[in-house]
Amino acid sequence: MTDCGFNTALLHGVDDKNPYGTTQVPIYQSSAFRHECAEDLEKIFTNKAMGFSYTRINNPTVEAFEKRVTLLEGGIGSVACASGMAALSNAFMNILQSGDEIVAAAGLYGGTVELFEDLEAFGITTRYVKKNEPEAYEELITDKTRLIFAETIGNPMLDVTDIAAVAEMAHRNHLPLIIDNTVATPYLVKPISLGADIVVNSSSKYMNGNSDAISGVLTWSGKFKWDDERYPGMVPYKKFGPMAYIAKLRNGLFRNMGACLSPQNAFLNNLGLETLGLRMERQCANALELAKYLDTLEGITVNYPGLPNSPYYELAKRQLHGGFGAIVTMRTGSKERAFEIINALKLPFILSNIGDTKTLVIHPASTIAVHLSKEDQIQSGVYDDLIRVSVGIEDVEDLKKDFANAIGGTR
Ligand SMILES: *Cc1c(COP(=O)(O)O)cnc(C)c1O
Repeated sequence: MTDCGFNTALLHGVDDKNPYGTTQVPIYQSSAFRHECAEDLEKIFTNKAMGFSYTRINNPTVEAFEKRVTLLEGGIGSVACASGMAALSNAFMNILQSGDEIVAAAGLYGGTVELFEDLEAFGITTRYVKKNEPEAYEELITDKTRLIFAETIGNPMLDVTDIAAVAEMAHRNHLPLIIDNTVATPYLVKPISLGADIVVNSSSKYMNGNSDAISGVLTWSGKFKWDDERYPGMVPYKKFGPMAYIAKLRNGLFRNMGACLSPQNAFLNNLGLETLGLRMERQCANALELAKYLDTLEGITVNYPGLPNSPYYELAKRQLHGGFGAIVTMRTGSKERAFEIINALKLPFILSNIGDTKTLVIHPASTIAVHLSKEDQIQSGVYDDLIRVSVGIEDVEDLKKDFANAIGGTR
């Protein structure tokens, strides 16, 4: 399936036929899986045979989702989790131990910044770059640094990471690069193909597409070589070869933290995922057209990597294929005016999510970023007058009219 396009690979690339010929992978709504004899179950528990034992560890509906994401992201294995935050927690903590440091991008998703704060209680420190450039990351690396983290397109800053350049820098310093690909999705870019070692997607967003299930998934490239001294936790799993990272999760942290994905939610993800390419194509086209249109209106400043005035335009054009993402932000002058515009819009839903088929709007400073300090807010690209728009699949002329009315009507 490497020679066909994104949608064909997604629809036909994973063979999980079942005896009844269902067209969708069924919901295997079972907490545990029975076996013919004690020996069979022993083999599964001791990693001598593949198979299912308990849904906290894996489940056929969940595995079907993992296989599709592995294929889309071009990795060798994935672990689906109860949420994007669970996937990020597992991805980081599978590598780190007390005393280690993270070097991270600015402009990160607020939840991730808060998670890094939580990790401080376990002796893990995070240093943030001021500018999303490879040299800025390299300057912050110390002998305690154990991983580099960035988002393909920062949410909500909409900065774009030069994945190939940051990966090259990370590897030169013997560090793995973890990329959060939630906003771009593998439809726009496969970070592993550019050198990333682990990719995390909050599949609650575009992968699911309909806002009907919270979930997250991490995908492992199989390439990074774990040094025994710097990553002692990986040593017992070396017998799993290139699968060591995934084996460590499933035999350790992932299993024991228990943030597994439910079969029902995995089913909803498998269903939604089928139209990821179609939705992204439409949503990115809508976002570009809406951003261009908003840019012609007075009194607001539009931020979108697909506009030539974005500092990330050239990089985005080079790195992303098929669009610039479907998130647009705008500065409106004041918090009051941002609220007025949000309240005057008729079509978008006012809610804290992205990646739905419907257009969504939010005022980040008073909601998703409200727990961050003012300084952290600014570092994340969150201003008091900022509105974030997650553009949906509506007819774009209707969106343009609605925004024009809301913005014009409140001036
Ligand atoms: C939403 C989001 C997350 C967290 O995902 P949940 O599924 O809500 O836990 C992480 N990273 C980014 C970029 C997100 O947009």
